[in-house]
Amino acid sequence: MRKSPGLVPNEDILCVGFGWRQQPLRTPSTTRVDYACKQGFLPVPAQRARQRRMVAMIGWLKRMRLLRCLPAAVVLTAMPPGGARELYLSFDDGPDPQYTPALLDLLRQHQVRATFFLIGSKAERHPQLVRRMLDEGHRLGNHSWSHPDFNRLSLAGMMDEIDRTDRVLQAFDGVLHHGVRPPSGAFSLALTLRLARERRRLLYWSYDSLDYQHRPPAELVAAMRAQPPRPGDVLLMHDDSDCCTRMLETLLPQWRSEGFEFRPLPTGADLGATAEGVHA
Ligand SMILES: [Zn+2]
Repeated sequence: MRKSPGLVPNEDILCVGFGWRQQPLRTPSTTRVDYACKQGFLPVPAQRARQRRMVAMIGWLKRMRLLRCLPAAVVLTAMPPGGARELYLSFDDGPDPQYTPALLDLLRQHQVRATFFLIGSKAERHPQLVRRMLDEGHRLGNHSWSHPDFNRLSLAGMMDEIDRTDRVLQAFDGVLHHGVRPPSGAFSLALTLRLARERRRLLYWSYDSLDYQHRPPAELVAAMRAQPPRPGDVLLMHDDSDCCTRMLETLLPQWRSEGFEFRPLPTGADLGATAEGVHA
């Protein structure tokens, strides 16, 4: 077993028997890390707010450290770059009747296939959008039933959210178990181990577009150009606003001209296959 220095014992347990590799995780800016660096006197309510942000930040940093050491068989963050210039676009929090159709139009126009991590209750409410995704070659992932805070749920509560969503998605694509992307990326060791035991996998991301930050799309595009994604990166985006569509109107032609291809992530039965063998 190869060990990374400084791992806590629970994290070491997950490295046993899976092999180990450093997984990439990047964002185009350091906004989140800046939280931890801010100092200075603040009024009491602001101090409490800062403490809450610090607690959230520490949880996020712990998850990032855990993600970097978990094997891809348990949590996939990026695909092996291989010889081709491939990117894996993923969209969370849909389907959304207001914003998803325009995104699907844009993806079809550029012949891009992607992965949609759906909220189960929304998929049930908007079946026509789910069918359109599949008809146009996209794949489905599991983003829980109601997008709760997984940090506040028991393992049974998390599995209920995931299993209920899998049952709805299975009615569309026939896949028994979909790759799981937990809401806001929050997951526990218990959930990771439970899914791994059932040969199911967390599908994370390696590149955060920050499209949920309510910043102008042009500003986010500039940040991504300053630190562009690399072949094999899994890009995190959201189709519950028009931000990602506006960003992709600029970025897709650019990435195409740079020779990038776009693939959906492995999901369902081919999740158990080797990462190199799942391009579709
Ligand atoms: Zn989400």
